Amino acid sequence: MYQAKAYSVASATAPFTADTIQRRETTERDVQIEILFCGICHSDLHTARDEWSSVMPTTYPCIPGHEIVGRVTRVGASVTRFKKDDVVGVGCMVDSDHTCPNCQDGLEQFCPGSTFTYNSPDRHLGGVTYGGYSESIVVDERFVLSVPANLDLAGVAPLLCAGITTYSPIHRWGDLTGKKVGIVGLGGLGHMGVKFARAFGAHVAVFTTSPHKKEDAIRLGAHEVIISSNAEEMGAHAGTFNFILDTIAADHDINAYINMLGRDGNITLVGAPETPLQVSAFALLFGRKSLSGSLIGGIAETQEMLDFCAEHNITSDVEVIPIQKINEAYDRLLKSDVKYRFSIDMASLKAE
Ligand code: NAP
Ligand code: ZN
Repeated sequence: MYQAKAYSVASATAPFTADTIQRRETTERDVQIEILFCGICHSDLHTARDEWSSVMPTTYPCIPGHEIVGRVTRVGASVTRFKKDDVVGVGCMVDSDHTCPNCQDGLEQFCPGSTFTYNSPDRHLGGVTYGGYSESIVVDERFVLSVPANLDLAGVAPLLCAGITTYSPIHRWGDLTGKKVGIVGLGGLGHMGVKFARAFGAHVAVFTTSPHKKEDAIRLGAHEVIISSNAEEMGAHAGTFNFILDTIAADHDINAYINMLGRDGNITLVGAPETPLQVSAFALLFGRKSLSGSLIGGIAETQEMLDFCAEHNITSDVEVIPIQKINEAYDRLLKSDVKYRFSIDMASLKAE
């Protein structure tokens, strides 16, 4: 084991402070990574504050961070895909059982034995896994992604969660050419959803609670913007969408968005509010509409998404911060005041 600098929270109400954690020595299959950038996902906030306690209670100290980009510093003897100095990424998972039907189908995120990057039982060291708000991490090579050389690394980090979480359901929907796609919420996930839906040829509309984001939504690729509190604007679009991706992190009236769907339309939830949503049966029945969910994406699909981003020059729009500003960043995340993802420059951790 070796010691690594990190930022942790000690309880659901504590601020982040500097900490030191143990990382395992590089075993045969492992890649040791110096972390360069780590995105701040709203899931980090839900977990740090134990908002998902009924489903996935948080073990403290908690070190979130699952949008990791870094440089390889060491590889184990049997590692074949990576070498020292390669630029790589790590997303929401660091291991799985590799044998179950989900793993065989490349859907490791649904493996009952999957190990998530943080707050998941750590098979090597005991306790729970610690995420990317740290100077380094050690990961099985099968969960390490190749980062295309042509992209800005601060903007690549969020692709490892916000990117794959929106790419996967949008891509899976089928041919979106000319289809009307709605993205609900222009935050970290939402702004990536806009970029992907546009890249796949859809007519893209953003639903937002923040009128001041209108110009940015258009710049990011939306064809139109609907202010969700404006009944007239909402009414004009009712029954017209083929597909809607709901990224809202808090409780909201999902029926308002189901009503936007046309016949056989689908709304997919990726946002994970802490309290259950109330769904009107009638909103779904009339028009044979469907409601589904989607969780990140598998490892092969994540690599496919990164390669797609390299080809289409897609990265996240980021506000780069030093780790010392993390508590302020969390406060702003709760106010939907992010343009459009915080990316932590981990070099700032050296000052601790
Ligand atoms: P984020 O950056 O905070 O963005 C969420 C956006 O939702 C906000 O910017 C805001 O957009 C809108 N919003 C916030 N509160 C709202 C409210 N009360 N009513 C209506 N709209 C509201 O968060 P994120 O990182 O994109 O994550 C979004 C959600 O997805 C979180 O719950 C997160 O845990 C979840 N998530 C799920 C997966 C998965 O695999 N399914 C992966 C990652 C994250 P406007 O200002 O435009 O209204
Ligand atoms: Zn995330």
